[in-house]
Amino acid sequence: MMFRCDEVARSASRLLDGELGFWTRLKIRVHLVMCRGCRTFVEQMRVTRDISAHAGRTQDEEPGGEILAILAKRRLRSGEES
Ligand SMILES: [Zn+2]
Repeated sequence: MMFRCDEVARSASRLLDGELGFWTRLKIRVHLVMCRGCRTFVEQMRVTRDISAHAGRTQDEEPGGEILAILAKRRLRSGEES
């Protein structure tokens, strides 16, 4: 069973927190290998979290503007409805 892009986006913060189990992480990694959009998304999220961590702030609830921009772009491209 493959992860879809929206599932990867939803799991990305938990992935970066190391909260996901082995198989879930593996499935996401497989998806990231094939999906450039999600790779960029996770990478951006990692960078954003790094920056906010260094700034002494966490952004657990609210994604940064860059992330929102990427998500908006992805929604346009994939047509959202499944
Ligand atoms: Zn994807």
